[in-house]
Amino acid sequence: MLPDQDGQNTGGGGRGGGGGASEDPSTALFREYLRLKTVHPEPDYDAALGFLGRISEELGLPMKKVEVCPGRVVTILTWTGTNPALKSILLNSHTDVVPVYQEHWKYDAFAAVKDAEGNIYGRGSQDMKSVTIQYIEAVRHLKAAGKTFPRTIHLMFVPDEEVGGQKGMETFIKHPEFQKLNVGFALDEGLANPSEAFTVFYGERNPWWVTVRCPGSPGHGSRFVENTAAEKLRRVINLFLDFRERERQRLNMSECFTLGDVTTVNMTMVNGGVAYNVIPAEMDVSFDIRIPPTVNLQEFEEQIKAWCKEAGDDITYDFAQKGMNQKTTSTEDSDPWWSAFSSTCKSMNMTLKKEIFPAATDSRFIRAVGLPAIGFSPINRTPILLHDHNEFISESVFLKGIHIYETLIPALASVPALSTEA
Ligand SMILES: [Zn+2]
Repeated sequence: MLPDQDGQNTGGGGRGGGGGASEDPSTALFREYLRLKTVHPEPDYDAALGFLGRISEELGLPMKKVEVCPGRVVTILTWTGTNPALKSILLNSHTDVVPVYQEHWKYDAFAAVKDAEGNIYGRGSQDMKSVTIQYIEAVRHLKAAGKTFPRTIHLMFVPDEEVGGQKGMETFIKHPEFQKLNVGFALDEGLANPSEAFTVFYGERNPWWVTVRCPGSPGHGSRFVENTAAEKLRRVINLFLDFRERERQRLNMSECFTLGDVTTVNMTMVNGGVAYNVIPAEMDVSFDIRIPPTVNLQEFEEQIKAWCKEAGDDITYDFAQKGMNQKTTSTEDSDPWWSAFSSTCKSMNMTLKKEIFPAATDSRFIRAVGLPAIGFSPINRTPILLHDHNEFISESVFLKGIHIYETLIPALASVPALSTEA
C-alpha cells in the first residue's frame, strides 16, 4: 500500500475508525466503509448494520431497522425537523456492491487503497458508498454547527439494489414504515461525470426483457425442411437488430442525445436444438431492451407483435421483466423541490446536466409511487467506473461532495410549506 496523503480538512471532529492519524476523518470513515464486504452474491449486511449502528450513536440520531425480507434490513436514521408535520427529505443509498474480477484490479478491491495522487480505489467508491458517507458527514457537520431545519431528514440505507431491489426498496416502498416517513422529496444515486459538470437524473428508461419463441417443423438435418424454427429465428433477430442499428444511428447523429434518450436493444441469449442432425421444433432468442420515458409503450409492444408476425407463423413472445412506469421528476423552475435543488447548485457555481438514467436504480420505485426523486452523485471530473475494474474516486472530489450536501440538504429541508401541506 502506498502512503496516505492528507486531504483538506473539513473539520469533521475527532472520532475512531480507520485511516492514518493525519487523514481527514471523513476520508478515514469512507475507507473503513469501503472495506466492508457488502458484495454480491453474499453481502455481509451484518457488517453494514454494525457500522450504521455506530453512526447512529455518533450522530445522536435514532435508528430504525425494518426487516423487509429475511436477512434484508432497511435502516433509517432520522433527524426530526422543527416542523415535523411537513413532508420529509429522503437521502437514500444502497449498501450493497457488485462483484469484482480481482485479477483486473490494480489493488485489492476491498482494501480502499489511496494512491499517491489521492485516488481511493474500491468497489463501491462511486456506486455508491461515497454518497452514503457524504450524506452522513454532511449531516454530522450540520448537527455539530447547531443547525436545525423545518423539515425532517431521513438517511435511508437499503439492501439489494444491485440485484433488482425486490428484497429492498421495491418491497419497502409498500411497507407501512415507509408511509410513516412522510417523504416529500428524495435524493438517490446518479453517475460520475468526466467533465466539470454534474449529471442529474430525473427519470429512467424502462427495462423490457423479452424472449421470442420460434416454433418450426422438425426433421432430419440432411433435408430442406419447410418452415423451420431457425428461419423464423433469423428474421426475428434481423428485425430486432435492424431497429437496434436505427437507434444507434439516431444516438450518434444528434449532439443533444444521450443513451437515456434512445431505445437500446441487445440480443443476450439464444436457446434451442438437441443434436447436429436434428432440426429443432423450437428456437428462442432473448433481448434486453431499455425504453426511454418518451416512447409510447403500447405502440412499442405493437411493434414487437408486428415483427413476430412478419417473421413467421405461430411466433410468440413473453416478458421476464416489463417496466411500465414512465413517471419522471419535474425539472421545471416552478417546481419547489427542483427549484431549491438547482438554484442551490447554481449558487455553488455547479453546472448541471439533466439526463434520463440509462439503466435502473431504486429511484424508479420512489417515482412509481408518485414521489419526486433526483439521481445525483456529486462526482465530476471522474471517469464513469461503476461496476468496472479499478473503480475509484479522488479524495478531493469526495470531500467536495460533502460540502455540496452541506449546502443542498439545508436548502431542501427548508423548502417552505407547499400549498398541499398547508
Ligand atoms: Zn448503485
